[in-house]
Amino acid sequence: MENCIFCKIIDQEIPSYKVYEDEKVYAFLDISQATKGHTLVVPKQHVTDIFDYDEELAADVFARIPKIARALEKAFPEMEGLNILNNNKELAYQSVFHSHVHLVPRYSKKDDFSIHFGNHAEQQKPEEMQAIADKIKEQVK
Ligand code: AMP
Ligand code: ZN
Repeated sequence: MENCIFCKIIDQEIPSYKVYEDEKVYAFLDISQATKGHTLVVPKQHVTDIFDYDEELAADVFARIPKIARALEKAFPEMEGLNILNNNKELAYQSVFHSHVHLVPRYSKKDDFSIHFGNHAEQQKPEEMQAIADKIKEQVK
């Protein structure tokens, strides 16, 4: 897609530090390097976000993630964990609107990276939890 920075990277119009490529995906170092080896895996097909994927493309992309994860682990034996993230839409911190998966190797609790899951379990009654689940379930096609 025109004016998409990641399409330009895939097409080699913009340089990148490539770590893997095949007919379906392109993987390269995230320029921010939140931690050493922070890598982005992107489908070669331009899709904006997760809402744009069909099952086949989702399978194609996720199928490549474990081998890139294992490559990171082998490349950096000091790695002790790995966060895998996918941001969708601006509110959820998406800043490049060509879908991508972040692989963020973790080395220490002091890494310049964090995720906070608030815990609101105490505020939810079982019937409210059931209503939420039912509402979603009705929409899964
Ligand atoms: P997100 O905020 O989830 O959309 O992630 C977009 C990521 O793309 C950010 O972490 C940026 O550091 C990264 N990024 C933006 N431009 C480039 C680039 N030219 N090469 C590598 N990474 C990039
Ligand atoms: Zn694109």
